[in-house]
Amino acid sequence: MSRSSVAGMIELEGLTKRYGEKVAVNNLSFTVRPGIVTGFLGPNGAGKSTTMRMILGLDHPTAGDVRIDGKHYQQLKDPLTYIGALLEAKAWHGGRTAYNHLLCLAQSNGIPSGRVRDVLETVGLTAVAKKKTKGFSMGMGQRLGIAAALLGDPRILMFDEPVNGLDPEGIHWIRTLMKSLAAQGRTVFVSSHLMSEMALTAEHLVVIGQGRLLADTSMADFIARNSRSYVRVRSPQRERLLDVLHQAGIVAVESGDGVLEVDGGKAEQIGELAAQHRITLHELSPQQASLEEAFMQLTAESVEYHAHSDTSATGPEPARQQWGDGWKRG
Ligand code: ADP
Ligand code: MG
Repeated sequence: MSRSSVAGMIELEGLTKRYGEKVAVNNLSFTVRPGIVTGFLGPNGAGKSTTMRMILGLDHPTAGDVRIDGKHYQQLKDPLTYIGALLEAKAWHGGRTAYNHLLCLAQSNGIPSGRVRDVLETVGLTAVAKKKTKGFSMGMGQRLGIAAALLGDPRILMFDEPVNGLDPEGIHWIRTLMKSLAAQGRTVFVSSHLMSEMALTAEHLVVIGQGRLLADTSMADFIARNSRSYVRVRSPQRERLLDVLHQAGIVAVESGDGVLEVDGGKAEQIGELAAQHRITLHELSPQQASLEEAFMQLTAESVEYHAHSDTSATGPEPARQQWGDGWKRG
């Protein structure tokens, strides 16, 4: 069966999913391309899993469309040879062995049984291939899920929060795997609620909040645009210092607790000005705003927009909190 010339593309157009009053995915349009890892980032509840389920035809869109190489998932012949997916982590309670689990999947999808050994080897489960999956740890379960995704040797791999439940060695392994799959020319689409995780893995970034698209950008661009550098200054003579800085044409903003932030400022220049005017400094420290902060701001703004448009109880604070929790959970 011949594949279209745009092999490996996932295209979303106005994709929308409503559950009753709740808009889980709101008019999402973007394209996922081959050869790179595309990170799909958003706080918990942003709509990542719902979007991924719609890509796989497991959930039906309320509006809009999503296609894989120009086709709906249901139209793909031997879909596992087009797209392999690891969805949300689930408990393994099967009485089957890992080998038999994959063998059944292969046989029911027209995949040569020799692939089972290959993928078990790739994910490092060869030694436990004949063990029943119900005794598997979360990390082993994730590896088995990834083996299933790789079984059909698909052009597109989609992973929903794959590092959840993995130990540091497992996390390092999956990052390396995702990059090497992309380097082979495959399309890798991976979701996370952790910016720190995406920064290490993804070359392109799609950010959503409350089901809406907030950014669709290269990681390099995102970092360049959002890594603000500034100098933190504390002084018991804050008013004097503000005057002196102002006279020197330096803009400082007060960020609460008596701290001044000088955007793009030079610590040396500020220190010398303070010395000339005999102003005591308690702190003078160059800072780099974190990418996490940039994401919190990005999603907080989307929440504010919603707070104005619908008068429901969800104000900006809970969502901000959600991000905060998300970062820590990683
Ligand atoms: P994410 O994967 O980004 O954490 P989800 O796609 O799981 O987000 O959920 C998006 C929103 O849709 C959440 O508010 C969630 O509660 C809601 N949602 C997801 N699935 C259902 C469902 N089957 N019924 C009702 N609401 C749902
Ligand atoms: Mg999810």
